[in-house]
Amino acid sequence: MNILVINAGSSSLKYQLLNPETQEVLAKGLCERIGIDGKFTYKPAGKEAIKAADVAMPTHSEAIQTVLNALVDEKNGVIGSMKEIDAVGHRVVHGGEKFAQSVLITDEVMAAIEECNPLAPLHNPANIIGIKACQQLMPGTPMVAVFDTAFHQTMPPVAYTYALPYEYYTQDKVRRYGFHGTSHKYIAGRAAAMLGKPIEELKLISCHLGNGSSITAIDGGKSVDTSMGFTPLAGLPMGTRAGDIDAGIMEYLMNKYNMDIKEMLNVLNKQSGVQGISGVSSDFRDLEQATAEGNQRAALALRVFEYSVKKLIGAYAAAMGGVDAIIFTAGVGENGPETRANAVSGLEYMGVKIDPEKNNTRGKEVDVSADDAKVRVLVIPTNEELMIAMDTAAIVKG
Ligand code: ADP
Repeated sequence: MNILVINAGSSSLKYQLLNPETQEVLAKGLCERIGIDGKFTYKPAGKEAIKAADVAMPTHSEAIQTVLNALVDEKNGVIGSMKEIDAVGHRVVHGGEKFAQSVLITDEVMAAIEECNPLAPLHNPANIIGIKACQQLMPGTPMVAVFDTAFHQTMPPVAYTYALPYEYYTQDKVRRYGFHGTSHKYIAGRAAAMLGKPIEELKLISCHLGNGSSITAIDGGKSVDTSMGFTPLAGLPMGTRAGDIDAGIMEYLMNKYNMDIKEMLNVLNKQSGVQGISGVSSDFRDLEQATAEGNQRAALALRVFEYSVKKLIGAYAAAMGGVDAIIFTAGVGENGPETRANAVSGLEYMGVKIDPEKNNTRGKEVDVSADDAKVRVLVIPTNEELMIAMDTAAIVKG
């Protein structure tokens, strides 16, 4: 079974054709600068990536047509015809309270996704454009929507309710939703497999630490709390996002520097996080290098980040009444031994202990905890495309 996974943004589109049963990736790539001057990258398995500039893609429709042409191309294609694409899995950022699971896309589902647009005005409309373009070019091929928020719909009210006037929840849907759900769900499944235990019996803390970062408490396979909130701006400090701050800071800075809310949000989304603290970079590799060269602010940025991770681990262990495994994933979680070690240092009293030698690993599934540790610490590379393809296949098969 071949599933085409589509992640459509406003001017870009990532794609991957894969078989969720064998986990084989047949081809993957990226359309960029849609509506501008069209850049196309196509990487068939086992061959060099092919890159093309000035590809006519005024809309997402031409971009997807370009992808389909490449997949069936005589020379570099990976399938004989479009009939070999059994279904399409679409990443959709926001499913609001309507979607607690992935879903087969029907007209009603499309309308419900559109109703979620105000909750993610930058992302959902682009996801919808991607779905519509695929429907138009691949009539008859089943399409499935996989939501970033769905996995977190199991959170109890005590975790998702903000202490604001309650009408903002009932009338305006202001609550914690959480994001990165596809990644956290995938990681939880792999952790259970690694530990050889049913997921229902496990308390997990999943740390997705990348450019955007979030941590989720997963009790019995269900998300019970997560650090991102109404938007992905909440929780940990990130590459350039502030994470949790005192909301009162906004008024103070807006008055002082005569900023409007758009400018303030630009600061919080694009100029904050480890980039803001360090003044060096949003990239953890640059920060590690600058720290090694003696840059104090780069070091402070890394320490603030690690401390924030540690505090949330403590909070979620408290929320679940214990923890069996802490999992690290995404760019920094998979590739940053020092970040992992610092984030869990001092948690020995909880039974958390890393083996420094085992922890010296990057990008592989490894249990990095000490043999005598009560709580396992796992490194698990995330794979959101595979999770989307697995969900899509399961729904299409019924
Ligand atoms: P995104 O949220 O954009 O998907 P990623 O999960 O790819 O982000 O994570 C990007 C981050 O991962 C960057 O800060 C990068 O520095 C970090 N990263 C990638 N490789 C390494 C590495 N070898 N060591 C430390 N950090 C790394």
